[in-house]
Amino acid sequence: MMDTHIREVFGRELLDSRGRPTVEADVLLAGGARGRAMVPSGASTGAHEALELRDGDPKRYQGKGTLQAVANILEKIGPALRGLDAADQAGVDGRLIELDGTPSKSSLGANAILAVSLANVRASADAHRVSVFRELAPTGTFTLPVPLLNILNGGVHAHWESTDFQEFMVVPLGAESFREALRWGAEIYQALREILQELGLPTLVGDEGGFAPSLATNREAVELILRAIERSGHRIGEEVGVALDPAASELYDEAKETYRLRREGREYSSQELIAFWDDWIGRYPILSIEDGLAQDDWANWVRWNQAMGERVQLVGDDLLVTNPNRVRRAMELGACNALLVKVNQIGTLSETRQAIDLARSSRWGLIASHRSGETEDSLLADLAVGLGMSQIKAGAPARSERVAKYNRLLRIEEELGADAKFAGGGAFRR
Ligand code: PGA
Ligand code: ZN
Repeated sequence: MMDTHIREVFGRELLDSRGRPTVEADVLLAGGARGRAMVPSGASTGAHEALELRDGDPKRYQGKGTLQAVANILEKIGPALRGLDAADQAGVDGRLIELDGTPSKSSLGANAILAVSLANVRASADAHRVSVFRELAPTGTFTLPVPLLNILNGGVHAHWESTDFQEFMVVPLGAESFREALRWGAEIYQALREILQELGLPTLVGDEGGFAPSLATNREAVELILRAIERSGHRIGEEVGVALDPAASELYDEAKETYRLRREGREYSSQELIAFWDDWIGRYPILSIEDGLAQDDWANWVRWNQAMGERVQLVGDDLLVTNPNRVRRAMELGACNALLVKVNQIGTLSETRQAIDLARSSRWGLIASHRSGETEDSLLADLAVGLGMSQIKAGAPARSERVAKYNRLLRIEEELGADAKFAGGGAFRR
């Protein structure tokens, strides 16, 4: 057996997909195994997320430098972890949490902590000579997730205000395998490009690789996507459904307690927005709506889930921030029925696992998620398969930081061979 005790931890500042600095860590083990991981970064960041430490020095990267986070890895985290067993992920994460000592990881920075937490699982997998998804679930059976492909971007991910809502995704749940689902998604993406070109609309893309035309109405976005599904030869509904992430916290006016939808030309109370979603669910083949209400609008989330939770997946992103405490509260209240899982919202792999286990105990949907600021790191794919999440959203089937995750899933499917199972429609039945 190779010695899995931690010998050295390194950190460095490098760039993410938006050209902003982020953090990478390397964990080296006594037996020579090593692991490396990079952390992503959000734009429509939830108010309750763990803290992403930025230098605030206006002379570097408009204040967004990560040298302090890197220094925390080199000077504080490295020495504290030396000698711990990397194969004991909970032990390593526990030490990181204790060393930071704050609920929001504001002392060392969640970006510093997460880079090390994720590099550690890679190092341990390397020592065990297995893929990371197997390291995460040594005795499990494995399912390939259904991809939610964000082919039309809006909101704060397309700064020219293409639509009010942030993400319009296609869900190829009727495919036989992940490989087939990804092909359908890519075909639909190319069909949407053709349609936009024919309409004389620009095909420039937003932060997550989806097209971001400036449209007159929000409904037009869904209707263009339905045309693209049809044009690519796939059946709307039974083969390919639609998922939305309106990111409603970004539309919410706290003082007025209303949601401002510019494309609809008016403001909505929470109750009116719920009625708006009810209308859309009746009109379109919508499987899933994420953050359809704002992050602290708890009472209305509960009303919404009571009214529509049987018919559609209601996903908490900013609402839950992958935080076991907020997941527990949502379970007790009955506020939603699915968890969006973003490791950098909470900052360690072990806490992410706790949030997932809680959600699973309530038979919620589970969606592994990238951030709008991403990197070439494909670990998300291994997390989805290894932690048993039956859905993944990693953006459009375009741009290498997005495609890296989907390509990694193709390789995992190949590695599993005849044992590979595709979640398909089962991902949406509770
Ligand atoms: P973010 O967007 O990474 O900018 O927060 C993704 C999301 O809201 O799901
Ligand atoms: Zn979201």
